[in-house]
Amino acid sequence: MASGSLQKPILIAGGGIGGLSTAIALARHGIATRILEARETFSEAGAGIQIGPNGTHVLKELGVADQLRPLAGSPSAINVMNAREGTRLTTLPLGNWIEERHGGPYWVLHRRDLHAALLKAATACEHIEITTRFEVRDVKDDGDGVHVGNAQGVQISGAGLIGADGIWSRIRQCVFDAPPLQPSGKLAARAVMPGQDIDTLFSGNKIGVWLSPNSHIVHYPVRGGRDIAVVLIVPDTGHQPNGAGFNANWNTPRGADQLLRRLGPVAPQLIDFLQIVPSWRSWTLYDPPVLSDWSKGRVTLLGDAAHPMLPFLAQGAVMALEDAVVIANLIAQEPANLPDAFHKFAAMRVKRTSRVQAESRRNGQIYHLGPLPAQARNLTMKVIPPRRLMHRYDWLYGWRERGDYERSS
Ligand SMILES: Cc1cc2nc3c(=O)[nH]c(=O)nc-3n(C[C@H](O)[C@H](O)[C@H](O)COP(=O)(O)OP(=O)(O)OC[C@H]3O[C@@H](n4cnc5c(N)ncnc54)[C@H](O)[C@@H]3O)c2cc1C
Repeated sequence: MASGSLQKPILIAGGGIGGLSTAIALARHGIATRILEARETFSEAGAGIQIGPNGTHVLKELGVADQLRPLAGSPSAINVMNAREGTRLTTLPLGNWIEERHGGPYWVLHRRDLHAALLKAATACEHIEITTRFEVRDVKDDGDGVHVGNAQGVQISGAGLIGADGIWSRIRQCVFDAPPLQPSGKLAARAVMPGQDIDTLFSGNKIGVWLSPNSHIVHYPVRGGRDIAVVLIVPDTGHQPNGAGFNANWNTPRGADQLLRRLGPVAPQLIDFLQIVPSWRSWTLYDPPVLSDWSKGRVTLLGDAAHPMLPFLAQGAVMALEDAVVIANLIAQEPANLPDAFHKFAAMRVKRTSRVQAESRRNGQIYHLGPLPAQARNLTMKVIPPRRLMHRYDWLYGWRERGDYERSS
Protein backbone atom coordinates (compact mmCIF):
# COMPACT_ATOMS: atom_id res chain seq x y z
CA MET A 1 0.00 0.00 0.00
CA ALA A 2 1.07 3.59 -0.56
CA SER A 3 1.68 4.33 3.14
CA GLY A 4 4.63 1.94 3.12
CA SER A 5 6.74 4.66 1.51
CA LEU A 6 6.04 7.16 4.31
CA GLN A 7 7.95 6.68 7.56
CA LYS A 8 5.68 9.02 9.52
CA PRO A 9 2.07 10.14 9.17
CA ILE A 10 1.23 13.29 7.27
CA LEU A 11 0.16 16.02 9.71
CA ILE A 12 -3.05 17.93 9.02
CA ALA A 13 -3.59 21.19 10.93
CA GLY A 14 -7.34 21.66 11.40
CA GLY A 15 -10.21 19.20 11.76
CA GLY A 16 -12.84 21.17 9.85
CA ILE A 17 -14.52 20.02 6.63
CA GLY A 18 -11.25 20.26 4.65
CA GLY A 19 -9.00 18.54 7.20
CA LEU A 20 -11.35 15.65 7.94
CA SER A 21 -12.21 14.96 4.32
CA THR A 22 -8.52 15.00 3.35
CA ALA A 23 -7.67 12.49 6.09
CA ILE A 24 -10.51 10.20 4.94
CA ALA A 25 -9.46 10.51 1.29
CA LEU A 26 -5.84 9.61 2.19
CA ALA A 27 -6.93 6.72 4.41
CA ARG A 28 -8.73 5.23 1.41
CA HIS A 29 -5.28 4.96 -0.20
CA GLY A 30 -3.85 3.43 2.99
CA ILE A 31 -1.98 6.64 3.90
CA ALA A 32 -1.77 7.53 7.59
CA THR A 33 -2.49 11.05 8.88
CA ARG A 34 -2.56 12.81 12.22
CA ILE A 35 -5.08 15.64 12.55
CA LEU A 36 -4.10 18.40 14.98
CA GLU A 37 -7.17 20.42 15.94
CA ALA A 38 -6.96 23.53 18.10
CA ARG A 39 -10.42 23.23 19.59
CA GLU A 40 -11.17 20.96 22.50
CA THR A 41 -14.46 19.72 21.11
CA PHE A 42 -15.94 19.85 17.66
CA SER A 43 -19.03 22.01 17.98
CA GLU A 44 -20.03 23.24 14.55
CA ALA A 45 -22.09 26.37 15.08
CA GLY A 46 -25.77 26.40 14.07
CA ALA A 47 -25.82 27.14 10.37
CA GLY A 48 -26.86 25.61 7.09
CA ILE A 49 -24.62 24.67 4.19
CA GLN A 50 -25.30 24.08 0.49
CA ILE A 51 -23.34 21.37 -1.28
CA GLY A 52 -23.55 21.42 -5.09
CA PRO A 53 -23.17 18.27 -7.24
CA ASN A 54 -19.37 18.74 -7.40
CA GLY A 55 -19.35 18.39 -3.59
CA THR A 56 -21.95 15.61 -3.18
CA HIS A 57 -19.92 13.62 -5.69
CA VAL A 58 -16.92 13.88 -3.30
CA LEU A 59 -19.06 12.94 -0.27
CA LYS A 60 -20.07 9.78 -2.15
CA GLU A 61 -16.44 9.05 -2.98
CA LEU A 62 -15.51 9.46 0.71
CA GLY A 63 -18.20 6.97 1.73
CA VAL A 64 -20.30 9.41 3.82
CA ALA A 65 -23.15 10.13 1.39
CA ASP A 66 -25.34 7.23 2.58
CA GLN A 67 -25.19 8.44 6.16
CA LEU A 68 -25.99 12.00 5.14
CA ARG A 69 -28.79 11.28 2.64
CA PRO A 70 -31.59 11.02 5.28
CA LEU A 71 -30.46 14.33 6.80
CA ALA A 72 -29.97 16.18 3.53
CA GLY A 73 -32.57 18.16 1.65
CA SER A 74 -32.61 18.18 -2.12
CA PRO A 75 -34.38 21.46 -3.02
CA SER A 76 -36.34 21.50 -6.24
CA ALA A 77 -35.32 25.04 -7.27
CA ILE A 78 -33.91 28.43 -6.30
CA ASN A 79 -36.48 31.24 -6.18
CA VAL A 80 -34.68 34.50 -6.90
CA MET A 81 -36.77 37.34 -5.47
CA ASN A 82 -36.82 41.11 -5.64
CA ALA A 83 -36.62 41.87 -1.92
CA ARG A 84 -38.04 45.39 -2.20
CA GLU A 85 -41.13 44.40 -4.16
CA GLY A 86 -41.57 40.83 -2.92
CA THR A 87 -41.86 39.62 -6.52
CA ARG A 88 -40.19 36.61 -8.16
CA LEU A 89 -37.47 37.33 -10.72
CA THR A 90 -36.78 33.75 -11.80
CA THR A 91 -36.91 30.15 -10.61
CA LEU A 92 -33.69 28.23 -11.31
CA PRO A 93 -34.01 24.46 -11.54
CA LEU A 94 -32.24 22.14 -9.05
CA GLY A 95 -33.74 18.77 -7.92
CA ASN A 96 -33.85 16.05 -10.57
CA TRP A 97 -32.78 18.46 -13.29
CA ILE A 98 -29.38 19.24 -11.79
CA GLU A 99 -28.86 15.66 -10.61
CA GLU A 100 -29.40 14.35 -14.13
CA ARG A 101 -27.24 17.04 -15.70
CA HIS A 102 -24.28 16.64 -13.35
CA GLY A 103 -24.66 13.11 -12.00
CA GLY A 104 -25.04 14.15 -8.35
CA PRO A 105 -27.69 15.86 -6.20
CA TYR A 106 -27.64 19.45 -4.92
CA TRP A 107 -27.94 19.14 -1.14
CA VAL A 108 -28.74 21.49 1.72
CA LEU A 109 -27.59 20.36 5.15
CA HIS A 110 -27.18 21.47 8.70
CA ARG A 111 -23.46 22.19 9.02
CA ARG A 112 -23.27 20.13 12.19
CA ASP A 113 -24.65 17.05 10.40
CA LEU A 114 -22.01 17.32 7.67
CA HIS A 115 -19.17 17.76 10.15
CA ALA A 116 -20.46 14.95 12.39
CA ALA A 117 -20.62 12.50 9.46
CA LEU A 118 -17.04 13.31 8.43
CA LEU A 119 -15.83 13.06 12.04
CA LYS A 120 -17.54 9.70 12.51
CA ALA A 121 -15.95 8.33 9.34
CA ALA A 122 -12.51 9.67 10.34
CA THR A 123 -12.75 8.35 13.90
CA ALA A 124 -13.61 4.88 12.58
CA CYS A 125 -10.48 4.83 10.39
CA GLU A 126 -7.39 3.05 11.67
CA HIS A 127 -5.17 5.28 9.52
CA ILE A 128 -6.35 8.50 11.18
CA GLU A 129 -5.28 9.80 14.57
CA ILE A 130 -7.03 12.90 15.92
CA THR A 131 -5.41 15.11 18.55
CA THR A 132 -7.56 17.94 19.89
CA ARG A 133 -6.42 21.01 21.88
CA PHE A 134 -3.30 21.29 19.74
CA GLU A 135 -3.06 24.73 18.17
CA VAL A 136 -0.21 24.74 15.66
CA ARG A 137 1.89 27.85 16.30
CA ASP A 138 5.13 27.21 14.42
CA VAL A 139 6.34 25.04 11.57
CA LYS A 140 9.79 23.80 10.60
CA ASP A 141 10.52 21.88 7.40
CA ASP A 142 13.99 20.26 7.60
CA GLY A 143 13.82 18.70 4.14
CA ASP A 144 13.24 15.16 5.48
CA GLY A 145 10.12 15.92 7.49
CA VAL A 146 8.17 18.66 9.27
CA HIS A 147 8.02 19.59 12.94
CA VAL A 148 5.15 21.64 14.35
CA GLY A 149 4.93 23.17 17.80
CA ASN A 150 2.21 24.62 20.01
CA ALA A 151 2.33 27.47 22.55
CA GLN A 152 3.32 25.02 25.32
CA GLY A 153 6.42 23.98 23.37
CA VAL A 154 5.14 20.47 22.51
CA GLN A 155 6.58 19.30 19.17
CA ILE A 156 5.02 16.79 16.78
CA SER A 157 6.78 15.51 13.66
CA GLY A 158 5.41 14.15 10.43
CA ALA A 159 6.33 13.39 6.83
CA GLY A 160 4.64 16.61 5.68
CA LEU A 161 2.08 19.21 6.78
CA ILE A 162 -1.26 20.07 5.21
CA GLY A 163 -2.59 23.37 6.59
CA ALA A 164 -6.38 23.01 6.66
CA ASP A 165 -6.68 25.59 9.40
CA GLY A 166 -9.30 27.84 7.84
CA ILE A 167 -9.55 31.46 6.78
CA TRP A 168 -7.24 32.74 9.57
CA SER A 169 -4.63 30.07 8.75
CA ARG A 170 -1.57 30.20 10.97
CA ILE A 171 0.28 27.98 8.48
CA ARG A 172 -0.40 30.49 5.68
CA GLN A 173 1.01 33.20 7.91
CA CYS A 174 4.11 31.16 8.95
CA VAL A 175 5.12 29.71 5.62
CA PHE A 176 3.65 31.86 2.85
CA ASP A 177 3.93 35.54 2.19
CA ALA A 178 0.19 36.25 2.09
CA PRO A 179 -1.33 39.71 2.47
CA PRO A 180 -3.45 40.21 5.62
CA LEU A 181 -7.23 39.83 5.40
CA GLN A 182 -9.16 43.06 4.97
CA PRO A 183 -12.76 43.66 6.09
CA SER A 184 -15.05 43.43 3.05
CA GLY A 185 -17.57 46.03 4.23
CA LYS A 186 -20.23 43.33 4.68
CA LEU A 187 -21.65 41.74 7.78
CA ALA A 188 -23.16 38.24 7.76
CA ALA A 189 -25.82 37.02 10.19
CA ARG A 190 -27.18 33.51 10.41
CA ALA A 191 -29.85 31.49 12.19
CA VAL A 192 -31.43 28.05 12.16
CA MET A 193 -35.05 28.00 13.34
CA PRO A 194 -38.03 25.60 13.46
CA GLY A 195 -39.82 25.35 10.13
CA GLN A 196 -43.38 24.77 11.39
CA ASP A 197 -46.06 27.43 11.02
CA ILE A 198 -43.98 29.43 8.57
CA ASP A 199 -45.33 30.74 5.25
CA THR A 200 -44.61 28.19 2.51
CA LEU A 201 -42.78 30.88 0.55
CA PHE A 202 -40.05 30.49 3.18
CA SER A 203 -40.54 26.90 4.37
CA GLY A 204 -41.13 25.01 1.08
CA ASN A 205 -38.58 22.71 -0.55
CA LYS A 206 -36.81 25.56 -2.35
CA ILE A 207 -33.85 27.81 -1.74
CA GLY A 208 -34.93 31.47 -1.55
CA VAL A 209 -32.54 34.28 -2.50
CA TRP A 210 -33.87 37.82 -1.95
CA LEU A 211 -31.88 40.63 -3.60
CA SER A 212 -31.78 44.20 -2.34
CA PRO A 213 -29.29 47.06 -2.90
CA ASN A 214 -26.16 46.27 -0.82
CA SER A 215 -27.82 43.28 0.88
CA HIS A 216 -29.34 39.86 0.31
CA ILE A 217 -31.03 37.06 2.20
CA VAL A 218 -30.78 33.30 1.59
CA HIS A 219 -32.99 30.67 3.24
CA TYR A 220 -33.48 26.94 2.76
CA PRO A 221 -34.87 23.93 4.62
CA VAL A 222 -32.51 21.69 6.61
CA ARG A 223 -33.01 18.45 8.57
CA GLY A 224 -35.72 17.19 6.23
CA GLY A 225 -37.63 20.51 6.37
CA ARG A 226 -37.96 20.52 10.16
CA ASP A 227 -35.71 23.58 10.37
CA ILE A 228 -34.96 26.56 8.17
CA ALA A 229 -31.45 27.98 7.79
CA VAL A 230 -31.25 31.72 7.08
CA VAL A 231 -28.29 33.91 6.14
CA LEU A 232 -28.51 37.67 5.86
CA ILE A 233 -25.73 39.82 4.37
CA VAL A 234 -25.90 43.56 5.01
CA PRO A 235 -23.50 46.54 4.95
CA ASP A 236 -21.01 46.47 7.83
CA THR A 237 -21.11 50.01 9.09
CA GLY A 238 -19.38 49.94 12.50
CA HIS A 239 -16.88 47.16 11.65
CA GLN A 240 -15.89 45.13 14.72
CA PRO A 241 -13.02 42.68 14.17
CA ASN A 242 -13.96 39.01 14.68
CA GLY A 243 -10.60 38.30 16.24
CA ALA A 244 -8.28 35.88 14.49
CA GLY A 245 -7.29 32.25 14.66
CA PHE A 246 -9.36 29.19 15.49
CA ASN A 247 -11.44 31.03 18.07
CA ALA A 248 -12.35 33.97 15.80
CA ASN A 249 -15.81 34.98 16.85
CA TRP A 250 -18.62 34.35 14.43
CA ASN A 251 -21.20 34.25 17.18
CA THR A 252 -21.92 37.85 18.12
CA PRO A 253 -25.63 38.03 19.08
CA ARG A 254 -27.40 40.63 16.97
CA GLY A 255 -30.95 42.00 17.30
CA ALA A 256 -33.33 41.70 14.33
CA ASP A 257 -34.08 45.45 14.46
CA GLN A 258 -30.43 46.35 14.05
CA LEU A 259 -30.11 44.01 11.04
CA LEU A 260 -33.36 45.20 9.44
CA ARG A 261 -32.22 48.81 9.69
CA ARG A 262 -29.09 47.94 7.69
CA LEU A 263 -31.17 45.98 5.19
CA GLY A 264 -33.21 49.05 4.19
CA PRO A 265 -36.74 48.96 2.76
CA VAL A 266 -37.99 45.45 1.84
CA ALA A 267 -41.36 43.78 1.21
CA PRO A 268 -43.64 43.29 4.27
CA GLN A 269 -43.70 39.46 3.99
CA LEU A 270 -39.90 39.40 4.14
CA ILE A 271 -39.85 41.67 7.21
CA ASP A 272 -42.45 39.44 8.92
CA PHE A 273 -40.30 36.38 8.23
CA LEU A 274 -37.04 37.95 9.42
CA GLN A 275 -38.68 39.23 12.59
CA ILE A 276 -39.71 35.76 13.74
CA VAL A 277 -36.12 34.48 13.62
CA PRO A 278 -35.53 33.88 17.35
CA SER A 279 -31.85 34.84 17.51
CA TRP A 280 -29.25 36.04 15.07
CA ARG A 281 -25.48 35.49 15.27
CA SER A 282 -23.28 37.75 13.19
CA TRP A 283 -19.70 38.16 12.04
CA THR A 284 -17.68 40.35 9.70
CA LEU A 285 -16.88 39.04 6.21
CA TYR A 286 -13.28 39.48 5.09
CA ASP A 287 -11.92 40.02 1.61
CA PRO A 288 -9.97 36.89 0.75
CA PRO A 289 -6.40 37.05 -0.54
CA VAL A 290 -5.77 35.28 -3.87
CA LEU A 291 -2.57 33.21 -3.67
CA SER A 292 -0.81 32.12 -6.86
CA ASP A 293 0.90 29.22 -5.04
CA TRP A 294 0.40 27.60 -1.65
CA SER A 295 2.89 24.70 -1.55
CA LYS A 296 6.50 24.97 -0.35
CA GLY A 297 8.65 21.90 0.27
CA ARG A 298 6.79 19.57 2.63
CA VAL A 299 4.08 22.09 3.52
CA THR A 300 0.87 22.87 1.64
CA LEU A 301 -2.51 24.49 2.33
CA LEU A 302 -6.03 23.54 1.38
CA GLY A 303 -9.62 24.73 1.83
CA ASP A 304 -10.11 28.21 3.28
CA ALA A 305 -6.45 28.36 4.32
CA ALA A 306 -5.42 28.27 0.64
CA HIS A 307 -8.32 30.02 -1.07
CA PRO A 308 -10.81 31.64 1.32
CA MET A 309 -13.79 33.06 -0.51
CA LEU A 310 -16.78 35.30 -0.01
CA PRO A 311 -19.89 33.16 0.51
CA PHE A 312 -21.86 34.41 -2.54
CA LEU A 313 -21.53 31.20 -4.56
CA ALA A 314 -21.91 28.75 -1.61
CA GLN A 315 -18.75 26.90 -2.67
CA GLY A 316 -16.09 27.40 0.06
CA ALA A 317 -16.62 24.04 1.74
CA VAL A 318 -17.18 22.35 -1.61
CA MET A 319 -13.77 23.58 -2.80
CA ALA A 320 -12.25 22.06 0.37
CA LEU A 321 -13.96 18.74 -0.50
CA GLU A 322 -12.62 18.87 -4.06
CA ASP A 323 -9.12 19.67 -2.72
CA ALA A 324 -9.29 16.62 -0.46
CA VAL A 325 -9.69 14.06 -3.23
CA VAL A 326 -7.25 15.80 -5.57
CA ILE A 327 -4.43 15.95 -3.02
CA ALA A 328 -5.05 12.38 -1.86
CA ASN A 329 -4.83 11.05 -5.43
CA LEU A 330 -1.61 12.99 -6.07
CA ILE A 331 0.05 11.81 -2.84
CA ALA A 332 -0.99 8.23 -3.54
CA GLN A 333 0.73 8.44 -6.93
CA GLU A 334 4.09 9.41 -5.39
CA PRO A 335 4.03 8.99 -1.60
CA ALA A 336 7.84 9.05 -1.45
CA ASN A 337 7.92 12.52 -2.98
CA LEU A 338 5.58 14.74 -0.98
CA PRO A 339 7.12 18.05 -2.15
CA ASP A 340 6.39 17.08 -5.75
CA ALA A 341 2.84 15.93 -4.95
CA PHE A 342 2.19 19.18 -3.02
CA HIS A 343 3.62 21.28 -5.83
CA LYS A 344 1.41 19.52 -8.40
CA PHE A 345 -1.60 19.94 -6.11
CA ALA A 346 -1.31 23.74 -5.92
CA ALA A 347 -0.54 23.97 -9.64
CA MET A 348 -3.61 21.87 -10.45
CA ARG A 349 -6.01 23.72 -8.16
CA VAL A 350 -5.06 27.37 -8.33
CA LYS A 351 -6.80 28.15 -11.63
CA ARG A 352 -10.12 26.62 -10.60
CA THR A 353 -10.21 27.96 -7.05
CA SER A 354 -9.24 31.48 -8.11
CA ARG A 355 -12.02 31.37 -10.71
CA VAL A 356 -14.48 30.35 -7.98
CA GLN A 357 -13.15 33.14 -5.72
CA ALA A 358 -13.65 35.67 -8.53
CA GLU A 359 -17.13 34.37 -9.49
CA SER A 360 -18.17 34.48 -5.86
CA ARG A 361 -17.11 38.11 -5.58
CA ARG A 362 -18.84 38.94 -8.87
CA ASN A 363 -22.05 37.24 -7.71
CA GLY A 364 -21.99 39.42 -4.58
CA GLN A 365 -21.67 42.55 -6.74
CA ILE A 366 -24.59 41.45 -8.92
CA TYR A 367 -26.74 40.55 -5.89
CA HIS A 368 -26.07 43.92 -4.25
CA LEU A 369 -26.50 46.26 -7.26
CA GLY A 370 -27.99 49.67 -6.54
CA PRO A 371 -31.58 50.48 -7.64
CA LEU A 372 -30.86 51.57 -11.24
CA PRO A 373 -28.48 48.81 -12.39
CA ALA A 374 -30.66 46.35 -10.47
CA GLN A 375 -33.49 47.10 -12.91
CA ALA A 376 -31.34 45.87 -15.81
CA ARG A 377 -30.31 42.78 -13.81
CA ASN A 378 -33.91 42.00 -12.93
CA LEU A 379 -35.02 42.33 -16.55
CA THR A 380 -32.20 40.01 -17.68
CA MET A 381 -33.22 37.41 -15.10
CA LYS A 382 -36.82 37.58 -16.23
CA VAL A 383 -36.11 37.18 -19.96
CA ILE A 384 -33.32 34.56 -20.00
CA PRO A 385 -34.70 31.02 -19.71
CA PRO A 386 -33.83 29.63 -16.25
CA ARG A 387 -32.06 26.55 -17.63
CA ARG A 388 -29.86 28.78 -19.77
CA LEU A 389 -28.94 30.78 -16.65
CA MET A 390 -27.96 27.51 -14.92
CA HIS A 391 -25.87 26.31 -17.88
CA ARG A 392 -23.43 29.10 -17.03
CA TYR A 393 -22.43 27.03 -13.99
CA ASP A 394 -21.71 23.77 -15.82
CA TRP A 395 -17.97 24.37 -15.34
CA LEU A 396 -18.58 24.54 -11.59
CA TYR A 397 -21.05 21.76 -10.85
CA GLY A 398 -19.80 19.37 -13.55
CA TRP A 399 -16.30 19.03 -12.06
CA ARG A 400 -14.78 15.60 -11.48
CA GLU A 401 -11.41 15.07 -9.83
CA ARG A 402 -9.89 13.14 -12.68
CA GLY A 403 -10.85 15.85 -15.14
CA ASP A 404 -12.72 13.37 -17.34
CA TYR A 405 -16.02 15.18 -16.96
CA GLU A 406 -15.97 18.92 -17.20
CA ARG A 407 -18.59 20.43 -19.46
CA SER A 408 -17.59 23.76 -20.90
CA SER A 409 -20.10 26.57 -20.47
C1 LIG B 1 -22.09 32.95 5.58
C2 LIG B 1 -21.35 31.76 5.03
C3 LIG B 1 -22.07 30.80 4.37
C4 LIG B 1 -21.39 29.73 3.77
N1 LIG B 1 -22.12 28.83 3.07
C5 LIG B 1 -21.48 27.87 2.40
C6 LIG B 1 -22.22 26.96 1.59
O1 LIG B 1 -23.45 27.02 1.53
N2 LIG B 1 -21.53 26.01 0.89
C7 LIG B 1 -20.16 25.91 0.97
O2 LIG B 1 -19.59 25.04 0.29
N3 LIG B 1 -19.44 26.75 1.75
C8 LIG B 1 -20.06 27.72 2.45
N4 LIG B 1 -19.34 28.57 3.23
C9 LIG B 1 -17.86 28.42 3.31
C10 LIG B 1 -17.44 27.30 4.24
O3 LIG B 1 -17.99 27.47 5.51
C11 LIG B 1 -15.91 27.25 4.36
O4 LIG B 1 -15.34 27.42 3.10
C12 LIG B 1 -15.44 25.90 4.93
O5 LIG B 1 -15.89 25.76 6.26
C13 LIG B 1 -13.92 25.79 4.88
O6 LIG B 1 -13.51 24.58 5.47
P1 LIG B 1 -12.03 24.45 6.03
O7 LIG B 1 -11.93 23.06 6.56
O8 LIG B 1 -11.05 24.91 5.03
O9 LIG B 1 -11.94 25.50 7.23
P2 LIG B 1 -12.77 25.51 8.64
O10 LIG B 1 -14.11 24.90 8.47
O11 LIG B 1 -12.69 26.92 9.12
O12 LIG B 1 -11.90 24.58 9.57
C14 LIG B 1 -10.65 24.99 10.08
C15 LIG B 1 -10.34 24.16 11.33
O13 LIG B 1 -8.99 24.43 11.73
C16 LIG B 1 -8.96 24.64 13.13
N5 LIG B 1 -7.79 25.50 13.39
C17 LIG B 1 -7.66 26.82 13.12
N6 LIG B 1 -6.41 27.24 13.43
C18 LIG B 1 -5.73 26.15 13.86
C19 LIG B 1 -4.38 25.94 14.29
N7 LIG B 1 -3.48 26.94 14.32
N8 LIG B 1 -4.01 24.69 14.69
C20 LIG B 1 -4.91 23.66 14.66
N9 LIG B 1 -6.21 23.81 14.26
C21 LIG B 1 -6.60 25.04 13.85
C22 LIG B 1 -10.30 25.28 13.45
O14 LIG B 1 -10.64 25.12 14.81
C23 LIG B 1 -11.23 24.50 12.51
O15 LIG B 1 -11.69 23.31 13.11
C24 LIG B 1 -19.98 29.63 3.87
C25 LIG B 1 -19.27 30.57 4.60
C26 LIG B 1 -19.93 31.64 5.16
C27 LIG B 1 -19.13 32.65 5.90
